[in-house]
Amino acid sequence: MSRSALFQTPLSERARIVYLRDFLTWLYDDRSSEEELAEQLWRWFGGFPRGPLRGKWRAEIDKHLSTTRDWPWRTFQAELRAALEGLYDGIRNTEVRASQPIRFTLKTWPSKGKRQHFSLQPVLPRRRDQRDWAPVFLFDFLSDLNNLTLGAMERCARPTCRHLFIRLRAKRRLYCSKRCRNLAVLEGLTRNE
Ligand SMILES: [Zn+2]
Repeated sequence: MSRSALFQTPLSERARIVYLRDFLTWLYDDRSSEEELAEQLWRWFGGFPRGPLRGKWRAEIDKHLSTTRDWPWRTFQAELRAALEGLYDGIRNTEVRASQPIRFTLKTWPSKGKRQHFSLQPVLPRRRDQRDWAPVFLFDFLSDLNNLTLGAMERCARPTCRHLFIRLRAKRRLYCSKRCRNLAVLEGLTRNE
C-alpha cells in the first residue's frame, strides 16, 4: 500500500482492509528470509509502496533495518502471530487484555480539504527492543480492525491451517487461500464454497 493511501483522512474502509491483509500475509510468511521479514514489516508500518525505494524513504527504512538487525525476526513473527491469534480466539472473553499497556497520543491531522481530524497514534518506544515494539505493531493493526464487521477477519476452516485471514469482498469465504480451498476439497472437508 502506498503512504498516500494510508494517510488519507479519514482512512477508507478499503484502505484499512488492504493494510490489515498485508500484515496477516507478513504474519504467516514462512518463505522470506529474516532480512526480508524485517524489511517488509518496516515497510508495512511506515506505509511504504512496494518496489524499489529511493532517497529519503530508502534512508528511513535502512535506519530501521540497521537498528533492528539483531532482532530474532522469525521468533518475533511467531510471537506476534501467537499474540494476535490469542486475542482473536478470546474475543468473547472480556478478561483478555493486551499483555502490555500501550502509550498513545491524540493529535490532529489535516485532510486535503484542510479539515482537521482526530489522530490516535502510539508513542514509539525509545529502546530498540522487539518486546517493546510488539504492542506497537499490534496496536496499529487493531486500530484498523476496530469497528469492522466480525466477518472481515476469520480463521481458515482447514483444521491443519487455521490461519487468520482478511476478507476483501463481502462474499463469505471459508479458507484463507485457493491452496487451502483446493486441499480441503481433496481432504473431503467440503465439496464447494
Ligand atoms: Zn488456510
